[in-house]
Amino acid sequence: MATVEIRNLRKAYGALEVLHDITIDIADGEFVALVGPSGCGKSTLLRCIAGLETIRSGEIRIDDKVVNDLAPKDRDIAMVFQNYALYPHMNVAANMGFALKLSGRPKAEIEDRVGKAATILDLTRQLGRKPVALSGGQRQRVAMGRAIVRDPKVFLFDEPLSNLDAKLRVQMRVEIRELQQRLGTTTIYVTHDQTEAMTMADKIAVLNGGSLEQVGAPLDLYRSPANLFVAGFIGSPQ
Ligand code: ADP
Ligand code: MG
Repeated sequence: MATVEIRNLRKAYGALEVLHDITIDIADGEFVALVGPSGCGKSTLLRCIAGLETIRSGEIRIDDKVVNDLAPKDRDIAMVFQNYALYPHMNVAANMGFALKLSGRPKAEIEDRVGKAATILDLTRQLGRKPVALSGGQRQRVAMGRAIVRDPKVFLFDEPLSNLDAKLRVQMRVEIRELQQRLGTTTIYVTHDQTEAMTMADKIAVLNGGSLEQVGAPLDLYRSPANLFVAGFIGSPQ
């Protein structure tokens, strides 16, 4: 189980502050969609939570433990990126097990975890194949597999479906959400697609210019937007 609490987080690149006083609570097992226009700070906020950026001030807590000073590998978080570049020379099993191998896990444990992930993701028959021999959806599932073999407390997704065609995007939305519910892993999911946010998330957080405008259940935001920005962003398709 994992809660994520962010308190008064500020992040700057040099003199430029790009995240201003971000405070948000995420409950155990919750799926939060983080939305907002390009350049508003979505990826930066994920990177701060993952420990890939140092923050200017504030606190990030996972399960009540302040993780500000922990290295990414000690935060128990797995991130899935938009450009989930799989290693082309490695087969699916090696791609999924790579992080575990780097962290020195025994071979038998790696095989076990990769096998279980492959079953969950319906990739058992693809384990010996190279990424080039996979469909777009299968590649996306391998990227998910790399995250779930680590059995993390928190998933962070950064626009994971934006390189897929429309039909596959709709299918993968359902798959990701079902997988997340099955595993019960607390998730922050960045997307610029309102439909994705509305259909997948327990809660939507709207970021604009480095500040959170509103956080709430999809229907609450839709019916009672806090301001015109939220109304425009949630109400009208882009
Ligand atoms: P989003 O993911 O919402 O599109 P980002 O988090 O990528 O936004 O960027 C937020 C702001 O921070 C932008 O103004 C961007 O130009 C700036 N930024 C992002 N990464 C860096 C960096 N490594 N150095 C300097 N500025 C950056
Ligand atoms: Mg981004």
